[in-house]
Amino acid sequence: MELEQLNESIENLVWQWANPGNALEKEVIGLQTIFDSIPALVFCKDTNNTIIRVNQYFTEQTGLRKEELEGQTVFEVCHIEKLATKNWDDDKEILKTGKPKRDIIEPLITDNRRWLSTSKTPIYDKKGEPVGIAGFSFEITGQKKVEKEVLQLRKELAHSNRVTIMGELAASVVHEINQPLSAIRNNAQAALHLLQNPQTNMPDLKEILFDIIADNKRASDVILRVRDLYKKQDHKKVLLDLNELVQEVFAFLKNETITRNVSLKLLPDKTIPLVTADRVQLQQVIMNFILNSTEAMEEIMPIKREIAVSIHRAGEEKIGLSIRDYGRGIDKKNLLRIFEPFFTTKPGGIGMGLSISRSIIEDHGGEVWAENNENGGASFHFTIQVMGGEENGVS
Ligand code: ADP
Repeated sequence: MELEQLNESIENLVWQWANPGNALEKEVIGLQTIFDSIPALVFCKDTNNTIIRVNQYFTEQTGLRKEELEGQTVFEVCHIEKLATKNWDDDKEILKTGKPKRDIIEPLITDNRRWLSTSKTPIYDKKGEPVGIAGFSFEITGQKKVEKEVLQLRKELAHSNRVTIMGELAASVVHEINQPLSAIRNNAQAALHLLQNPQTNMPDLKEILFDIIADNKRASDVILRVRDLYKKQDHKKVLLDLNELVQEVFAFLKNETITRNVSLKLLPDKTIPLVTADRVQLQQVIMNFILNSTEAMEEIMPIKREIAVSIHRAGEEKIGLSIRDYGRGIDKKNLLRIFEPFFTTKPGGIGMGLSISRSIIEDHGGEVWAENNENGGASFHFTIQVMGGEENGVS
């Protein structure tokens, strides 16, 4: 029997138990024993929000007696207005559409720190008129707690991965900030020099001051980018152009790749639509791939060290991004394992980069995979949903 049919049969039995009519006493007692012995909250309501019947477990969990529940509306029993309203809205929708609702995640009506998963179905009389709602709920507080802890752990790991990336990039960051700072110092000295000369013309001085302002902005942009990566934040999905995003990552990695003699190439697709994504998270993913590729090419001749990032459409709903290198490639037996947490083949590796990248991509409705190229090196591919998803997601 399908799960849906099973659920409906149970709910119809619940209704018979609550409204025995002229059923045999034996049957009524039988149903009573069954429903009172199961560890789920079983209930029946009429079409006006009034509770007709609840089982023993319902009374034990809510801490209310049968008399305090049966014959009362949910609004009279539940003192959290928002919760009672949501509960009633679900009922109205079920009665209106005639369709059951499954897996409603809601708090217990007498304690909003405890969570239930509820199934409800409309019940009809012989003429096909709706007469009420029958349903049951299971407690899922423990499961919810674990989900929350996993989410928290993922956030912490994603953060520490960003900090690791920043550690790797420290030299580039120092260099990126140092450059504009030296330029500012040189320009300021030049300006002082000009000021000592009575023949100095204003336009020259103005130009120098504008250069100082521009260099100052360059330095503070670097600091802002670093701050974003370090920040422990809830994530915000916004509309993004992937071509631009990759360019930003390239700019960030410029010094790192120059030092390691790696050239970065972007094969953009100007026709692709925007995606709804978290900027910092996606930058983190692309950075992970590029840094891995850079490391994988350490042993080949500098002239051959090239990483190509290409962007393309991957069907109606998705955009694809591929990162290709000419490095040592991936051992065949490890092709799937590399995405597992803590899998690493590097002496000082942590093995979290790809695992975090995968969860970020999956959170954006996409997929990620790796393969070895025919003529050497590895390629990493991922897809991501085009715009239209949630505007504000927390991952
Ligand atoms: P880590 O870099 O700390 O090892 P990752 O999760 O980023 O952690 O990578 C896991 C493993 O995947 C690496 O140790 C390496 O064996 C493999 N790998 C990742 N990227 C590449 C690549 N571009 N070429 C070859 N192997 C790679």
